[in-house]
Amino acid sequence: MAKSRGDKPLVHCSFCGRSEKEVTSLLEGLNGFICTDCIDRAHQLIHMNDKTFSNKATILEKAQSDFKLLTPKQIHSFLDDYVIGQEDAKKFLSVAVYNHYKRILHQNQNGADGLDLEKSNVLLVGPTGTGKTLLARTIAKMLNLPFAIVDATVLTEAGYVGEDVESILVRLLQDADYDVERAQMGIVFIDEIDKIARKSDNPSITRDVSGEGVQQAMLKILEGNIVNVPPQGGRKHPEQKMIAVDTKNILFICGGAFEGIEKKIAQRINTKVVGYGVQDRLEGIDTKELLKYIAPQDLRSYGLIPELIGRLPVITYLHPLDKQALLNILTKPKNALIKQYQQLFKIDDINLKIDAQVLDYIVETALKYNLGARGLRSICEAIMMDAMYSVPSEKHNSAKKDFTITLSYAKEKLAKFTGSMFIKNI
Ligand code: ADP
Repeated sequence: MAKSRGDKPLVHCSFCGRSEKEVTSLLEGLNGFICTDCIDRAHQLIHMNDKTFSNKATILEKAQSDFKLLTPKQIHSFLDDYVIGQEDAKKFLSVAVYNHYKRILHQNQNGADGLDLEKSNVLLVGPTGTGKTLLARTIAKMLNLPFAIVDATVLTEAGYVGEDVESILVRLLQDADYDVERAQMGIVFIDEIDKIARKSDNPSITRDVSGEGVQQAMLKILEGNIVNVPPQGGRKHPEQKMIAVDTKNILFICGGAFEGIEKKIAQRINTKVVGYGVQDRLEGIDTKELLKYIAPQDLRSYGLIPELIGRLPVITYLHPLDKQALLNILTKPKNALIKQYQQLFKIDDINLKIDAQVLDYIVETALKYNLGARGLRSICEAIMMDAMYSVPSEKHNSAKKDFTITLSYAKEKLAKFTGSMFIKNI
């Protein structure tokens, strides 16, 4: 019961020590007081202990009903429907995801034989726009699990301007509609992890709050810990209610371009081969794509701290996208761009046809302006804009008809945009 004590001396919560003025209300017991915030926290803790620890069977049942554990080959073939190429990354990711969720589903049995299967967070290294986010997103879609994308560049060490690392989990909770149990089995994609590399090799006088400081702060989240998360995000403050999230079963997939890491890889390969038959060792090496030889040492020389690298045991790489890959991206995936436009037109009873040379032209433009897969959509938009504008009003005048995009049509439409701010801004 809340106490109004008039001019009597202030009483304090016997748990957090705050005075009756600082809390909503205090309940009086035989020998002390408890504030409503501490009651809330105690309730959460008991609730969490119940669900997270004593009641593993519930988690197991929930997990089993929430998603189906597919084999690595099945996961790979699901990814094939959405992501073009990137075979190595798909293979590594399929195995990592399979092992991770197998570990969750069988954690009861593991307890029995005392074997603790460690978690397999993944690091995807590859140029921007090659499918890192798409891979992570597709995995989450396949498993029907909560999914969050976080940009590592906005994170800073606690107490500095920027977001605390706990905000990573806020997004996941939001995607799970604050169902903590579901969130605890979700997938988080941390993008641009390379941008939090240590800024220099020498410890400097100024703290590296957005680099090494963030890496340190991320350790506890990646590793598997109970983290107190402010439900609405933002900075933590003492009076705020917190949600306790256990990160043990959250799969973290990190992605980064690691620009220039090829130099570190080359250095390592050369250093290693000195004196061990340089010719033999270098012969099998594909110098055009050094990324495929990426190893933890290279990440360390790039500026990731060893503890963080240790928590990302699965490392794989993505290829840059060549012309054929971009062409496939336009037409092959289940929700390929061209299929999407055809669907849009079909709703207006128009059969959209696109000449093969137009597809070549779109891809060549993307390559010419170095726009990668991300630019394909903007180029298509520029070409289709006029048609999308006029066709809906024409549909009432005629029965179902074809609309063909020819090379000259595409060139004419795109010419309006190339050289303008449009292409530069993509
Ligand atoms: P990043 O590697 O920077 O995370 P994304 O996964 O966000 O790149 O890719 C950007 C967009 O480009 C995707 O939404 C998708 O439309 C397209 N894309 C990139 N790579 C591929 C790929 N390998 N297969 C299919 N689409 C791709």
